[in-house]
Amino acid sequence: MLSDKANRIGASPTFKVAAKAKAMRAEGIDVVDLSIGEPDFPTPGNVKAAGIKAIQENFTKYTENEGIPELKKAILDRYREDFGLSYALNEVIVSTGGKSALFHAAQALINEGEEVIIPAPYWVTYPEVVKLALGKPVIVPVKEENGFVLTPDELRDHITPATKALILNSPSNPTGATYNRAQLEALAEVVRKEDIFVLADEIYAALVFDDFGYTSFAALGEDIRKKTVILNGVAKSYSMTGWRIGYALGPAPLIAGMGRIQSHTTSNPVSISQKASVEALGGPQYEIGKMVAEFQRRRNYCLMKLQQIPGLSCFKPQGAFYLFPNIRSFYDKEFNGTPIRNSYGMAYYLLREAQVAVVPGDAFGADDHIRLSYATSMETLEKGLGRIARALGQLKPARKAKRVALSNYVSRVRGAVPVEAQIPLKVRDGLVAEVSDRLGPESYFEWNANISGVVVQLRTNVRHLHDFWVENFYPAPLEAEIEPHGVLYAVDGIAGREPRAFYNTETKTGVVVNTDAYGPVRSLALGLVADIAARHFAAPVVRGMSLDLGGNGLVLIGPPGTKKTELFFGLLHDPKFRFHSSETLFIRSAGKAALADAVERKFFVPTSTVELLGRLAPLFDNSKSENVIVRKDECSNAECLRAEDCRLDRGSPFCYKASKEAHALLDPAWISGPAGAVRRTALRWIFILESDPVAPATQELTPEDALRLLTAGETPGRAKGGPSKPQPFFNPHLLLSSEEMIEVQTSLFQRVLQGTSSYLFNSKAAGVEKIKEIVGAK
Ligand code: PMP
Repeated sequence: MLSDKANRIGASPTFKVAAKAKAMRAEGIDVVDLSIGEPDFPTPGNVKAAGIKAIQENFTKYTENEGIPELKKAILDRYREDFGLSYALNEVIVSTGGKSALFHAAQALINEGEEVIIPAPYWVTYPEVVKLALGKPVIVPVKEENGFVLTPDELRDHITPATKALILNSPSNPTGATYNRAQLEALAEVVRKEDIFVLADEIYAALVFDDFGYTSFAALGEDIRKKTVILNGVAKSYSMTGWRIGYALGPAPLIAGMGRIQSHTTSNPVSISQKASVEALGGPQYEIGKMVAEFQRRRNYCLMKLQQIPGLSCFKPQGAFYLFPNIRSFYDKEFNGTPIRNSYGMAYYLLREAQVAVVPGDAFGADDHIRLSYATSMETLEKGLGRIARALGQLKPARKAKRVALSNYVSRVRGAVPVEAQIPLKVRDGLVAEVSDRLGPESYFEWNANISGVVVQLRTNVRHLHDFWVENFYPAPLEAEIEPHGVLYAVDGIAGREPRAFYNTETKTGVVVNTDAYGPVRSLALGLVADIAARHFAAPVVRGMSLDLGGNGLVLIGPPGTKKTELFFGLLHDPKFRFHSSETLFIRSAGKAALADAVERKFFVPTSTVELLGRLAPLFDNSKSENVIVRKDECSNAECLRAEDCRLDRGSPFCYKASKEAHALLDPAWISGPAGAVRRTALRWIFILESDPVAPATQELTPEDALRLLTAGETPGRAKGGPSKPQPFFNPHLLLSSEEMIEVQTSLFQRVLQGTSSYLFNSKAAGVEKIKEIVGAK
């Protein structure tokens, strides 16, 4: 239902922490909240009075879209007085909070694909706002030893022809770092030379300490002023977060563009808040001084407390109201057996064990840190920091520093690739010539797989594909007098071609181009084997999940959405059942019996199956894997992301559930020891699965009915236009669904069905227990 954008975007992490803290408090837990992003002072009395007066005077209607002239003027006066900058009335726009000024600036400035440089640590909203404008955030980590300030070299090194702008935030949320004039001048040099724009977020400009002399970026010269959009607001300086007034100052055409966009998003900001803001910006300013003095006192106190904690270090900020301690030295320590591995793990630990809410640094692009806010009373700070010190003191070096290092390959190409299954010989010859060119001696891997007696040779220039291939299938002699039955080229780096697979049946040649993912290669191999097996060995290749029960086999066949995997793993929970195959069976007829062989040595299984069989997790830890998610920001499991309690948050280095595209090569013998898996079983039961709200739980099928269903690859209740189109024999790896091939397969299946019992099984109406009853495993 949701757009990709909405699906991908998570709520602001700071909001999430605050919500968590609030929920814990509702449960009666005494949480100290150090995640706060707003001053803890009341809005000044004169400002509130101005708001009330606006209501009393019925100033409660639409105003000018860009803000009332009176407020625009107050903003200009404030910038002239504080920073010596002169702007005209058409160079300022008032918006519904600094956030919406930033949003409109990004929309007005950035074209699709343009790059915006964002120094990290960054305020959480910057990358998202750039992405929502279809731009590309370019995150540039800055160094703590440089005072969390971007250097001119770091800026220069990241500028490309696509760079449109830099986002500069001083004082910074989350570090509190400030840029002095000399540091800004040095950046301005690069900005001039490279001709980029600067979005200067100065929302904390009034909150600086130690008599820091604040310089606005736009004050560095007329040329710089023309390339700068200043973003500011009343939220932080006047304790007015709820009033939602922010503003932008910049070149008139850009401000006009923002105005046009604003006229379709929020229109004017709240009329009452505008009047209150006139008073805030134009009235007496001494409340700010009081607030700054108090923040400075708290900063000093908190720093002193933090510096007393062994192992922790903290940069001394000169602005805003945050501290950003470095907690790196606590990683890989543990409490009660749970190791802390990253800033999410630390934040989770502090919340659960110390009842202190902090924001993980990773949310700001700096995983070695946590953010603490001192916008709360001294009493609360004392309590919170005491708890943090105690909790960190409890962490002990992990007893066994065993950290699972996944053997994980992250592929460029994901998912299935289109297959052209019937290419003519001439096309095949051209393709083979084209790809062979890329199989130079510097990267050429070759291996013969023995897939149930069918020898398939892989020729590839991708080491990962070769690695998986060797592990996935049993080997066949390579250098002996063996001619492979089929050859499979998997060649990456072919210019001008999309990822695609091809097959020519006369020569039994498969070609996969421009994919480094294993799935498409394996799929083409299984298709090739099905073709060879049917034509040359009179053996059908069945696609299904199979189990052995005391020497007899049962297979589950069905399209996606029929709970095949759930039933399979559900049965595996019972030790009477032994693992046979998670996908493909090769059937040989022996008299009346149908002997089913597993074709894979290690099974290519989606790692999300841990949800069905928990004991797979440690096995995956020791398997070769592909596309397992190790960073939360790479996770696309929207459902899981929206829920709380992500295991990556709790310090786990990876998540098997996060991606449907993550696979591991699993040795079946590991599941329950060598006796828990069999390579050959005598097939006795075939379950064709459907998911139907009204059909009976099971129906025994005559061989003729079973054959009809299998050939069609479609069950009776299947909704028209259902999840996937019918596949003959429910087998998407069957390369050739030509009439001739269907005929061959049909006659082979006919024989198999003579020696087996078949059922149409409705997984909506029955489950594992019913299957056990049918096969006599109760
Ligand atoms: N910029 C920064 C760096 C901030 O921290 C915030 C508030 N957290 C804003 C802009 C936006 O403030 P608002 O929308 O409340 O005016």
